[in-house]
Amino acid sequence: MSVLALARPELLELRGYSSARREAGAAATMLNANESPWPSGNGMALHRYPEPQPTELRRTMASLYGVACNQVLLCRGSGEGIDLLVRAFCRSGHDAILICPPTFGLYAVCAEVQGAARIEVPLDAGFKPDTKAILAAARHSVKLVFLASPNNPTGALVRRTCIDQLASGLAGNAVLVVDEAYIEFADSSSTCELLGRHENLVVLRSLSKAWALAGARVGAVVAHPQVVALLERIAAPYPLPAPSTAAVLSALDCTRRDEFSRRVARLVGERERLRGALEALAGVREVLHSDANFLCVRFDDADAELGKLARGGVVVRDVRAQHRLQDCLRISIGTPAENDRLLDALAAAQEFA
Ligand SMILES: *Cc1c(COP(=O)(O)O)cnc(C)c1O
Repeated sequence: MSVLALARPELLELRGYSSARREAGAAATMLNANESPWPSGNGMALHRYPEPQPTELRRTMASLYGVACNQVLLCRGSGEGIDLLVRAFCRSGHDAILICPPTFGLYAVCAEVQGAARIEVPLDAGFKPDTKAILAAARHSVKLVFLASPNNPTGALVRRTCIDQLASGLAGNAVLVVDEAYIEFADSSSTCELLGRHENLVVLRSLSKAWALAGARVGAVVAHPQVVALLERIAAPYPLPAPSTAAVLSALDCTRRDEFSRRVARLVGERERLRGALEALAGVREVLHSDANFLCVRFDDADAELGKLARGGVVVRDVRAQHRLQDCLRISIGTPAENDRLLDALAAAQEFA
């Protein structure tokens, strides 16, 4: 069975908006898109609509992820990829997504916006996905199962055998979406390697974290070519602004790859230094295992620690509202100086009102 049988049937007929740039590429005289014939005068040539899926960027990212160009859909951050997947697969009022809390909040928000139900199968006591429970719960109406690996906000990678088993078990019923926003920080290869084995597997990749390009808003859905083609039909006509594409291409330039590896290695080194320092602090109960660029930390009194951090001018993410994280704060790894400031603030004596 084709994975498209799981998509919203009415979308299979949809041709999608046929933009001028899609109908006809470049020509000597371009009079088909109602653009200005002159640039705006700010020194940047932005008067032409960009390619809907910029060819060079698509090729570069496909090669970065070790897949074919037709397996890559470029989008405005992987966040847009989540939204496109929910809109493509979930009929409002009928279908559901499955998530494993505690996890990234955007999956639930996109489902709510689309009118899709949400089924929750919490991570187990070790914050690992409960494969059996997921497969049992995904029998009815679930079209998408979201797993982040490494997970946000807990930080741990999902084992490859677990992803393999889930994709096989869900085949014919649901798509498994593995969100790899933080995979570059983990000591592991990407789930993209499994795409050939499972038609119902989708991988989300982002340039916002390890590639230091959050402001450019570029990410990718890596999937079966049929899924990519479907998402492309429902995506915005020109999702990627030309300056973002140019900025990303220069940052991904092969000559900058060494710089990238050094930055990731330095960040992982800082993460482990910070872990050691935090574990030695009174008031820290546990530092969860992390394969990402943040640490999820259990405190005896998170309110008191937040107060100290505020006085030191440091903000961290309060994740205490999440399942089984009632005493946790999530700390992003910064520069060595920033991490020292965090440690100094936490080491300061508590002020009593
Ligand atoms: C940060 C994050 C994203 C979003 O990344 P963008 O590419 O910037 O949209 C996706 N998934 C998870 C789990 C994240 O933490």
